[in-house]
Amino acid sequence: MSRLTAIGALAALLATANAVAEEKVLNLYSARHYQTDEALYANFTKQTGIAINRIEAKEDELLERIRNEGAASPADVFITVDAARLAKADELGLFAPVKSRLLEERLPAHLRGNDWYAFSTRARVIIHNKQDVKAEDIQNYADLARPALKGKVCSRSGSHPYNLSLLASIIAHQGEAKAEEWARGVVANFARAPKGGDTDQIKAVAAGECGVAISNSYYLARLLRSPKAEDRKAMESVGIVWPDQKGAGAHINISGGGMLKTAPHKEAAVKFLEYLVSDDAQRYFADGNNEWPAVPTVKVANPALDALGPFKADSLPIAALARNAALAQKIYDRSGWR
Ligand code: FE
Repeated sequence: MSRLTAIGALAALLATANAVAEEKVLNLYSARHYQTDEALYANFTKQTGIAINRIEAKEDELLERIRNEGAASPADVFITVDAARLAKADELGLFAPVKSRLLEERLPAHLRGNDWYAFSTRARVIIHNKQDVKAEDIQNYADLARPALKGKVCSRSGSHPYNLSLLASIIAHQGEAKAEEWARGVVANFARAPKGGDTDQIKAVAAGECGVAISNSYYLARLLRSPKAEDRKAMESVGIVWPDQKGAGAHINISGGGMLKTAPHKEAAVKFLEYLVSDDAQRYFADGNNEWPAVPTVKVANPALDALGPFKADSLPIAALARNAALAQKIYDRSGWR
C-alpha cells in the first residue's frame, strides 16, 4: 500500500467513525425547562440510543450564544418560545432546511415556518377583574383600545415577543394603519406604564389595580393549578375571555424549533424533530407548560386547560407573525408602548 493510499484509507475510516458517532449524540439548546421534559428526553434516548446534551438558558441568551459560536457551534437543535424569536433565528440564517414527510404530515401547514416547526400552541387571551369590567365589553382585542376603558388597561412591554406577535397578527389581518390605531388606543387606556410579565398583569388584575390585561393562556392555567392557595384564590377575581371568537379567533403563539445549519449531528437532529411530533412526545411537550399539542390529533388531559373551555383559534400562518414582527416593534415605538 502506498503512503497516499494509506492516508486515504485512514481518512475513509475516520469518516466512517464520524458517521457512526453522529448517531450517538444530540446537542440541544433549549429555552424550556420543565420537569416533564426529563421524561421527554429520556424516551428519545431509549428509542434511538442517541444521548441528549442539553444547554438550557433564557430564550434570547441562547439565540445570542448560537450567533456568537458561529460555524463552531455544537448546537444541533434550537428550541424556544414565540414565533417572533424563531423568525429572528431564521432571518439570521441559523436554521437548515429539513426534508421530512413526517413533519409535513403531522403538523398543520400554518404551524410550520420556513425552516422551523411549532410543537405546541398557546393563546393570548384577555383577562379582566370581574368586579370592575364586564366580559361583554372586552370580547375583542379591538375593545382594549376603546375610550370606555381609559385608565383600566395594564400590559407588559411592547417590545416583548408575545406582544410583538400579537400586533403582528393584527397587522396581518387589518393592515398597518389599523394596527397602529389600535396600539395608540391601548396606550391611551393604560392604568400604568408597562412593567412586569404576564403573571404580574394577572395578579394586578386580581388585586383590582388593573381592570383589563392580556396574558398567555398557560400562565392562567399555572395559577389555576398552583399548589399555593393564594394563587387559586386570586384567580377567583379574574375572568378570562377568548378574544375575537366571531372574527379571526384568539391569537395563537407557539413553542417550536428547528435544526441549525451548523449542526454537527444532522441525522440525529432530524430524528429528534420527528420524535417531537409523535403522540407521546406531543403530550409531554404540551402538558409540561400547560399548552396545546401542535399535532391536531393528539389530545392532552389537563384539567386547568379543560377548565378554560373550548375556543376558536386564529389559523394565521405563524410565518406571517414572523414576517410582521419588525414592523410591530416600529408601531409600538411610534405609539409609545414602551
Ligand atoms: Fe412565557
